[in-house]
Amino acid sequence: MSATDVIVVGAGPTGLITAIQLAQRGHSVRVLEKWSAPYPLPRAVHFDAEIGRVLQSCGIGDELRTMIEPADVYEWRNATGTTLLRFGLVGDAPSGWPLSSMFCQPELEALLERRARSLPGLELVRGVEASSIEQHTDHVVVATTDGAEHSARYVVGADGARSTVRGLLGIELIDLGYFYDWFVVDLIPNEPRVYDPVNLQVCDPARPTTAVSGGPGRRRWEFMLLPGEDPATFCTEERAWALLAPWDIAPDNSRLERFAIYRFHARYAPTWHEGRVFLAGDAAHQTPPFAGQGLCAGARDAVNLAWKLDLVLAGAASESLLEAYDAERIAPARQVLEFAMDLGMVICVPDPQEAAARDAAMAAMVTDELSPVPPFPAATEGVFATDTPHAGRLSVQGIVDGRPFDDVHGAGFRLVTVGTDAVAPEAAEWFESIGGRIVALPDPDPRHAAWFADASVTWALHRPDFLVYGTAADAAGATALVTRLRQHLRA
Ligand SMILES: Cc1cc2nc3c(=O)[nH]c(=O)nc-3n(C[C@H](O)[C@H](O)[C@H](O)COP(=O)(O)OP(=O)(O)OC[C@H]3O[C@@H](n4cnc5c(N)ncnc54)[C@H](O)[C@@H]3O)c2cc1C
Repeated sequence: MSATDVIVVGAGPTGLITAIQLAQRGHSVRVLEKWSAPYPLPRAVHFDAEIGRVLQSCGIGDELRTMIEPADVYEWRNATGTTLLRFGLVGDAPSGWPLSSMFCQPELEALLERRARSLPGLELVRGVEASSIEQHTDHVVVATTDGAEHSARYVVGADGARSTVRGLLGIELIDLGYFYDWFVVDLIPNEPRVYDPVNLQVCDPARPTTAVSGGPGRRRWEFMLLPGEDPATFCTEERAWALLAPWDIAPDNSRLERFAIYRFHARYAPTWHEGRVFLAGDAAHQTPPFAGQGLCAGARDAVNLAWKLDLVLAGAASESLLEAYDAERIAPARQVLEFAMDLGMVICVPDPQEAAARDAAMAAMVTDELSPVPPFPAATEGVFATDTPHAGRLSVQGIVDGRPFDDVHGAGFRLVTVGTDAVAPEAAEWFESIGGRIVALPDPDPRHAAWFADASVTWALHRPDFLVYGTAADAAGATALVTRLRQHLRA
C-alpha cells in the first residue's frame, strides 16, 4: 500500500481542480476514478467570473479563453416575446473574466485532465472504484473494488451526486425539493449563426424553454415537461426535432449531440467532513441549473479546501483550520441553491393565469439599461477579517505588465497595495514563509485603481481562493491584518 498526501475520489471537475491545486503546491495526490474514460456528454454550459479565475489558477487560463463564448446578455421573454428581464455585463467583470462564460463540460474536463497528467506528484488512476474507507488517527485507507488499498493523510470525496464517500460517512442529504422534469437537448449547428441574445429564457406557460450557448459552435435547449407528461415516453429523437422546429433547427442544418431528461434537485449535506475525509462538489450539494452554478459551487469547494489542506500538510497552519471549510462553504452553497430555486419558481410556471400575473409584474420593471447581476453575499464566517471593507468578497484582477495579475503573481496569499509604505519586517517575513507575496502597484491599472478607491483602502489581503481576507487604510493596518491572519491559521 503506497501512501500519498491526499486521495481524491472522482475525476469530475471538482476532483480534478482539487487535485491540480494541491499538486501545483507540491503535494502528492492520487485521484481514483471509477470510469475508464471521461464522461463524454455535455452537462454544465455556464461558469461565472470567479470560476474563470479559479480555472486560470489551475494553469489552463490561456487555452480556456479560446474555449468559451462570453454571454453578455441573458434575456427573459414571455410567450408573446415581451421582455421580462434583461441582465448581464458587457466586457470582463472586475475579476478579469466575463460574468458569464458558456462552454462545453467535456472539453473543460479534457483540458483539466491534460493539466492533471502533466503535473509531477499527481497520479490519476481510472477504472478503480472506491468502496470502503477506514479512518486512523493520522491517515485514512481507501479500499477499491479491485482489492487494492490506498493510504493518504486526507481524503476528498468528489464523487458526484450519488457519492459513495458520503454514503460511507453516513451523511444524509437535506432535500429542499425539485423542479419538474426537463428535456435537455444539445446540438451542433452545421453553419455558424448569430443568436441575439446569446442566452434566452422563454417563460411560456405552454412550454417553459431555455435556449443558450453550449460553448463556441454549440447550442443547448431545455424544455420543461408539463404536468401529466410522462418522462418515459417523452424522451425521443422525434420529440427533440419537433420541439426545435420553431427555432429553425432541423436535421438538415444541425447535428443532435444528445438528448436526456433530468429531474433537477435542490439538496445539500448538512456537514461536509468527518475526521480526515471531506466532501466537495455534487457529493456535497446539488442545485437546479437555473443559475448555472452546480459546477461553479464545486470549483469553489475545491479551491477553498485545497489551500487549507496545503497549509496544514505543509505545517504552516494547525489542523483546526480544516474546520473552517464547512463554515465557509456550506452557507454560501445553500445561498446559491436558494437563489437557483427562486429563479426556478419564476421560470417553472405552467399555469397561464399565474404566468400572466408574473409577466405583468416583471415587464413593469424592465428598463432600457442592462440590469446588473448582484454579487453573491460576502462570506461572513471563517478565515476573514470581517470587520474590514470588502472582506469575504471576490478580489479584483487587473492587468500588470500587460498580463492578468494572477498570471504574473500566481495564486496564494497576496498582500496588494497601491500605497508607498511598507508592513513591519517581522509580519512580512512570516507572510512570505507561508508562500505569501507582497505586491506593490504604485501605478495601478484602472481596474485596480477603481477597486481601491471604491473601498477607500490602500491595502488588500487576497486569499488563495481569491476572496478578500481583509483590507486596510495604511501599512500599520496591513501589518495588523497579517498578524490576524497568523492567529487565524494557528487558532
Ligand atoms: C443538464 C445539466 C446542466 C447543468 N448546467 C450547469 C451549468 O450551466 N453550470 C454549472 O456550474 N453547473 C451545471 N450543471 C452541474 C454540473 O454538471 C455538476 O455540478 C458537475 O458536473 C459536478 O462536478 P463533480 O466533479 O462534483 O461531480 P461529477 O461531475 O459527477 O464527477 C464525479 C466523478 O466521480 C466518479 N465516481 C463516483 N463514484 C466513484 C467511486 N466510488 N470511486 C471512484 N470514482 C467515483 C464519477 O464516475 C465521476 O467521474 C449542470 C448539470 C446538468 C445535468
